[in-house]
Amino acid sequence: MAEAARSGGLRAVLLGAPGSGKGTQAEFLAAAVGVPAISTGAMLRDAVAMGSPLGAKVEGIMAAGGLVDDGLMAEVVRDRLARPDAALGFLLDGYPRTTGQAATLDAILGERRESLDVVLMLDVPEPVLVERAVARQRADDREEVVRERLRVYREKTEPLVEHYERLNLLRRVDGERSVGEVTKAILETLGRRS
Ligand code: ADP
Repeated sequence: MAEAARSGGLRAVLLGAPGSGKGTQAEFLAAAVGVPAISTGAMLRDAVAMGSPLGAKVEGIMAAGGLVDDGLMAEVVRDRLARPDAALGFLLDGYPRTTGQAATLDAILGERRESLDVVLMLDVPEPVLVERAVARQRADDREEVVRERLRVYREKTEPLVEHYERLNLLRRVDGERSVGEVTKAILETLGRRS
């Protein structure tokens, strides 16, 4: 991690439940660190909005709070990471979301002779997550969809915490604070000044 910080690049994953603030933090951190924030959720929502073939495939799954299949996501992420702005690093928000996706990410990075520097886990208690998500009022933020996304998160994504802990890549950050305080805590964790 310190190596990456010195050379200016950073390859990081932001992990956290829906409503944990990953997307917001990814944007602020990207500006501070100089690598792109890559949000698979935003990419898929754009695809739906544009009515692209990818959008047509994922629209129903997203509206129900389910997960798009790993094979399709692998293509999306491989293409995105191949763009020149990700050459020195990236902040991945919303990927990987399953243990299969973690293995795929590892393989994609391996082909490029790269590896992850750090996985940042934003910790936020469940009642706060539901409150935040419902207040956000996006199309896929109705309360029952929010609850389904949380259920899917616990089942499919939470095992990644232990996975990255074993690899000694996981750093936990208390996400129940102001946006600015969380950004500052993350930058400290990365060994950078805000
Ligand atoms: P949030 O951060 O609020 O959970 P996202 O914006 O990351 O939501 O994603 C919105 C939706 O897009 C998810 O509920 C899921 O349907 C789909 N999605 C995004 N990323 C992935 C992924 N890595 N694998 C499968 N589905 C995904």
